[in-house]
This record gives sequence, C-alpha cells and structure tokens, in this order.
Amino acid sequence: MSDSSLPSLTYSVDLSQPTSHYFEVTLSIENWQELQLNLKFPAWTPGSYLIREYVRHLQNFAVVSTPNQSPLAFQKISKNHWQIQTPHISQITVTYRIYAYDLSVRTNHLDDSHGYFNGAALFFLIPGYEKTPITLTIHPPYPDWHIATALTPVEHQAHQFLAPDFDTLVDCPVEIGPHQLLTFSVLGKPHYFAIWGQGNFNPEQLVEDTRKIIETEAYLFDGLPYDRYYFLLHLSSQGFGGLEHKNSCTLSYSRFGFQETEKYQRFLQLVAHEFFHLWNVKRIRPKALETFDYEQENYTPSLWFSEGTTSYYDLLIPLRARIYDSKTFLHNLSKEITRYLLTPGRLVQPLAESSFDAWIKLYRRDAHSDNSQISYYLKGELVTLLLDLMIRDRHQNQRSFDDVLRHLWEHFGQPEIGFTPEQLETIISNIAGLDLTDFFQHYLHGTAELPLAESLEKFGLKLTPILDEPSLPYLGGKVQTENQKTLITFVAAQSPLEKAGVCPGDELLALAGWRVTAEQLPQRLKDYQAGDMMQITVFHQDELKTVQVQLAPPQPSRYEIVRLQNCSERQFQNLKGWLESY
Ligand SMILES: [Zn+2]
Repeated sequence: MSDSSLPSLTYSVDLSQPTSHYFEVTLSIENWQELQLNLKFPAWTPGSYLIREYVRHLQNFAVVSTPNQSPLAFQKISKNHWQIQTPHISQITVTYRIYAYDLSVRTNHLDDSHGYFNGAALFFLIPGYEKTPITLTIHPPYPDWHIATALTPVEHQAHQFLAPDFDTLVDCPVEIGPHQLLTFSVLGKPHYFAIWGQGNFNPEQLVEDTRKIIETEAYLFDGLPYDRYYFLLHLSSQGFGGLEHKNSCTLSYSRFGFQETEKYQRFLQLVAHEFFHLWNVKRIRPKALETFDYEQENYTPSLWFSEGTTSYYDLLIPLRARIYDSKTFLHNLSKEITRYLLTPGRLVQPLAESSFDAWIKLYRRDAHSDNSQISYYLKGELVTLLLDLMIRDRHQNQRSFDDVLRHLWEHFGQPEIGFTPEQLETIISNIAGLDLTDFFQHYLHGTAELPLAESLEKFGLKLTPILDEPSLPYLGGKVQTENQKTLITFVAAQSPLEKAGVCPGDELLALAGWRVTAEQLPQRLKDYQAGDMMQITVFHQDELKTVQVQLAPPQPSRYEIVRLQNCSERQFQNLKGWLESY
C-alpha cells in the first residue's frame, strides 16, 4: 500500500565511466507537495566518528522540474545545504557527480576494477523525510560487473533495490564489480563474501573459520537477527580496517595476509569484531546514537563499551570458536596490555572522555597523541576484561560479562532503545552483584592505573614485565628510518629526550659524535648505563644541534601473562571457567 501524501524518492547511480572516478547520481522525486525542497549532505558515516565533510567531493549540482526539464531556482544555504523553490512543482530531478577515489571502508572508490560506495558519502538526505522509503537503481558499466549489498532487491527488477528509510540506505554499502562471491549457509541463513582484489586466501578455509565465528556469536546472543548477511572484503597491498553495519560489514585487509598464521588470526579477529558489532553498536546503541544526526558530532561517553567491549570479544571469540588456543589468547591479550602500559596518555585522559572526544582526537592522531590520549578501543577492552574477571571470580563463572551483553540485547538491542551511560553502569553493577560506583569513578571517569595484575592473579595468572637482555638505559623516544634519514617520531612526556630538548620530527645524526641509524641505536645504547650523560646530535628544523641527555633506568619493553606454577583450586577453577568452558 502506498501513502499518497508521501513523495516517492528514487536514487539512480551511474558509473558508466569508471576511469573518471565519478559516480553520476540522479535523485528523482515524485508527488512533491511542498513549496521548498531542502537537501542536506551527510558529514560523517556512523561507525567512524569524525566529521569528514563528504560534500567536498560533490560537483555539477543541477535541478530541474520533470518532465519539462526546466531549471529550478536554488540557493546554497551552507556548505552542505541546498534549498530549492518548488511552488506547484511535484516532479523534480536533481543531478550531481561525486568524485570517488578514496579507498577506505567508509568512503567511495571507483576505478576500472570496481565501484564501492557508502550512502553517507553519496546521497543527500531530505530533512523531514528521513523515514520515506527510497528506491535505488544502479547502472553497472559492464555485463560481468555484479552487485553485492545487504539492501533488499526489488523483485523482477535487475539492479534495483529498496531501502525502507535513509538510515538503511546509509547502512548498506554497495560493491559493484567482477568480485568473487562465496555463498554459504549458517544456522539456515545465507551468508556471502564478496571479495574485491586478489590475495593468498583459501576460500574453503575462510568460509569454515567465518562460520565458526558466526556460530559462536549467535550462541552468545541466542540467534541471528537478520535474514542474510554480506561480508564485503577489499584486498589491497596494505589495507587494514572494517566498518560495521546491521546486515553487512566492509573489511579491508592486506592481500597477502592470509597464509602466515598470526596474520590470518588477526584477520579472523577483524571478522569477529565487525560481526560482533551487528549486535553491539548497530542494535545495542548508546542513547546519543539512537537517532543519527548526520550533519554534526554525536557525542557519547559510551564508546568504551561499543568499541572496547567489542575489542575484548574479538580476542575471546576466536578462542571460543577454537580458532586459536588459550596460549595464543593470553599472548594476544599480553600484547594489548603492553600497548596500554607503554602509552603515557593512559594517565592523562579518562576513558569516558576519550570516547566523548573521539571526534577531535582518536581519528586525528599526531606525534603528541600517545602522551595525552588513550584509545577507548584499547582501554575499553581492558576495562571489560577487569569487569569480566570480577564478575566471574565473584560468581564462580556462573555469571560473566556475557550476561551484561545478553541483558542489553534483550532490553535495549532487540527493541532498539538507546541506553544511557547511567543505565549501562547500573546493569553491569546488577549483574556483578556489587556497587561499582568507585570502579567506574576510578577507571572510566578517572585515570587511576588499572589493577590488571591483581585481577589476573585471581585466575592463576601473573603479569610479568619483560626487560630486554641486556637491558638498555631509557631514552624515551621512537625512531624510524624514512628516505634514509633516521627520524624521531615520538618523544615521551618527561623523558630524558624531552628534557634535553629533542623534538618529534628531528633527524637523529649521531650519538657521542658518531653516526647512528635506527637499527644501530639499541646496540650503541648497550655501552651506557642509567645516569650516564650522553651527547646526541640532531637536525632540528634544519639546524644542527648537539644536546646532553641523562639516561634513565631501563623500562620494560613488553608484558607477558604467564600461568602461576602453584595455584589454588579456586584460581584453577576460575581460569578453567574463563578460558575452557563454553
Ligand atoms: Zn569496532
């Protein structure tokens, strides 16, 4: 049944000249009944919290009344807002071109090998008509180019799809090209891998391991809340990344990253992560993301849960799916703890603030970021670890963070009601059976050091700092070779290098008067001890500069979780319940 008072909206996307990198877009509106038409272009893509101003790729905007093709008067109100006068005009055609040559999971890419787009970076929204259904027609340039998208195909209409609303149009990226399509069924539902680019993956293995991940996550959330699911996989020379959607995800990965065990496991973690999001963040949403405002920042302190908890589970799911064993799991967790403990910014930026300020910080990293920030992915993952261990220890593994997820799924995810930060804290406290006010005050809203060692010890595990052998005195910087130059890329706050006046971007030339490269640096430091004064020569903004650095005591280069030799029955049972019973 159609509502005669509603306009009909049809987007048509033409990519007849892929080498031009232009998507030619037509918006056809029928049954328009207002005096004005406002068109606004989204500024960001849900899932990637940065204002990206996609409208900068738009050109050749034109609007005519249909069918007589007479141009309509319009005015630009702001950078992304067009206003068109439409008195007595019921049929309108808008045309524009979008330059699409940004290969990332959240943008648009078109060349002679494929086309890929995200609705937020391609389509206007019409304020007040966000809930109006939209028909999408795609015109592939060659007969062997096919279309992969989670949008619902229109029956008996080739290349035509229907989105019930603008959110769904944005939430279903589209891959058009000669991609390889792997089709498989899990729990009675069809799943697809649409793979663009060549790579060293084994299709059977990829499907088998993905199936295990899907089954493991479906078990956790008691079923799959969709009719079918698409993995759009882009293989390129050094791609890495993903973007989640309700019924699909886009993954970007290195084309030769599928044979080496560690790299392949990293890929499967990415699959587990993006797939987990179909529940956590796509359906279980923070209140601030319940209704997207596509034009500006949508602030929330809860991304520690949306992203951090998802990151904790992307470590845990492959273990539960028997893709790797508990030794590998603990090793991978050790690497995350190492990254956390070697980031000075953990003691500066509270976790909730890291989430809130995602829009200005996480996606805009610079040489100082590690001194002033902590990723809500990383710290959120470790705070989830602490909570999971606390709940498990207190309830002898009869409860866990899984129960938090299931509760949120039932009460907020399924009915799609956004949760407030206070509700989230209350639900976790209730499942823990503890007043967690202090916990959240210290570790979510404050910058207290996380009690990782104490928590792991209750599970018969020891967090061990590892110093290089022989241990090197501490300088507090990172160096990298670029164009045969040894560049200082990071200077830690309060470190010997900072105190001596060495800056990020300086070119390191010599130690104690002798040339040094990035590779030689550790070897050369072996000749010194903590407390020694050492001469360092750099180019600082092209000026030759020699400074005296006083070396500090050695610091751990990494942390490793090891099993305690003699653990109590309770520690043994705790660990068993956490890592072996599922
Ligand atoms: Zn994520």
